[in-house]
Amino acid sequence: DNLQFLFRRQTDSNNRIAVQATKWGMSIMMDAKQYEESLRKLKLVVYMFGKRMSNVVDDPIIRPSMNAVAVTYELAHRPEYADLMTATSHLTGKKINRFCHIHQNTNDLTMKSKMGRMLGFHTACCFQRCVGMDAINALSIVTFDIDKKRGTHYNKRFLKFLEYVQENDLTCDGAMTDPKGDRGAAPRDQPDLDAYLHVVEERKDGIVVCGSKAHQTGAVNSHEIIVMPTIAMREEDRDYAISFAVPSDTVGITYVIGRQSCDTRKLENGCVDRGNQFFGGHEALVIFDHVFVPWDRVFMYREYEFAGSLVEKFSSYHRQSYACKVGVGDVLIGASQTIAEYNGVSKASHVKDKIIEMNHLNETLYCGCLACASEGHKEPSGTYCVDTLLANVHKQNVTRFPYEIARIAQDIAGGLMVTLPSEADFRSPEIGMWLEKYYKGAKDASTEDRMRVLRLIENITLGSAAVGYLTESMHGAGSPQAQRIMISRLVNLKEKQRQAKRLCGINV
Ligand code: SF4
Ligand code: FE
Repeated sequence: DNLQFLFRRQTDSNNRIAVQATKWGMSIMMDAKQYEESLRKLKLVVYMFGKRMSNVVDDPIIRPSMNAVAVTYELAHRPEYADLMTATSHLTGKKINRFCHIHQNTNDLTMKSKMGRMLGFHTACCFQRCVGMDAINALSIVTFDIDKKRGTHYNKRFLKFLEYVQENDLTCDGAMTDPKGDRGAAPRDQPDLDAYLHVVEERKDGIVVCGSKAHQTGAVNSHEIIVMPTIAMREEDRDYAISFAVPSDTVGITYVIGRQSCDTRKLENGCVDRGNQFFGGHEALVIFDHVFVPWDRVFMYREYEFAGSLVEKFSSYHRQSYACKVGVGDVLIGASQTIAEYNGVSKASHVKDKIIEMNHLNETLYCGCLACASEGHKEPSGTYCVDTLLANVHKQNVTRFPYEIARIAQDIAGGLMVTLPSEADFRSPEIGMWLEKYYKGAKDASTEDRMRVLRLIENITLGSAAVGYLTESMHGAGSPQAQRIMISRLVNLKEKQRQAKRLCGINV
């Protein structure tokens, strides 16, 4: 189904959409094909396996990740997903892709969570575009707050950039995480000062920056890179308290693609061993070697007092964004039920109970991302932000529950998931019949289908999609301890104590 909607709709329907949109005076939201073409125009400097890539878009390792982002474009044109995938711009009144939208009420926040689950379900991987959405929303709040306190003009600059993003339906990489070098030392005390991205030169027309951003989700599928500081800063670290946006192919930017478990399976003949036939994610190290940023794209400059607030706002939004894991969990539960049937054990009471437990955990995650959205509030800028405490509680659950869901999936799947011979062996004229014979499960299930669903479970819990479903659940949007610190800061422990004492007759 996914392949069909991605590749069936070619130029004819694209042109129709574009003409129609122009007639209605609306923004032209790109579709999958237009998005792909827009990426082809970028002159990115990308390295993988020690070589500069000459064609990023068609590379078999990168392409599934591009397909996943393309879904965010394609579904925006489907009437049945219009509520989830589109919104009305508060700047222009035009219909835009929700990924470019600034949340105007709690319904927008709720729709964002629902969209994340739906897209996770469609792709069973990281679809990458949320980081940019979370960055623009955080900046819409913090640039306003800085201006109010300091009489600067960051918000106006930012809104101009935002309109450009909305009008062109761009994918932005929200780049926060610095490599951090020695974790015990502040940015200014690092043996290598580039361990945190910083300004190295101030010019009349802009600034020059050096440093890098690590683990950048979807970086080479992005049109723009939005840089933000990674931690709260002190005055001595003001050169690091900067935020800006640059086109992703700006001179001086180099991308190095991160390895994923089983990544080279995408280079093999046949596609069964990939598990997920269509989609994947990618992360990259993004290196800034003396990159020039014009002033109109600088949204925070040496504003060290506001670095912490930008980090907190982005993190809260991104912790909410982990609604995506619920959608991937849905697929994993579906795969687990399917392999239980193929193995002939689906009627066993303990298997049924395990499926219930998986659903219970997954829906509990959904409760968290909906709760922080519906308890959202209006910031002075007018942007709606999620409830910070509940967003942190949600993300803390995300650091645990997908691991438990994955454990149960592996329990139900059995050891065959990791001892299964390759697709090439199954297709071999010499030995294929033996594998067909000895890997046959329940009578109604074909051996090949059994192999396919096992590979999907492997992909999500051990393979390249486990980057998104597991390790990213642990460390993305902040490692578990970061949420625990926020939880301890945000709960009103004193009030809880007072009430407990009051109810048992202790004087307060
Ligand atoms: Fe979006 Fe989830 Fe990927 Fe983060 S991990 S970018 S929230 S899909
Ligand atoms: Fe993430």
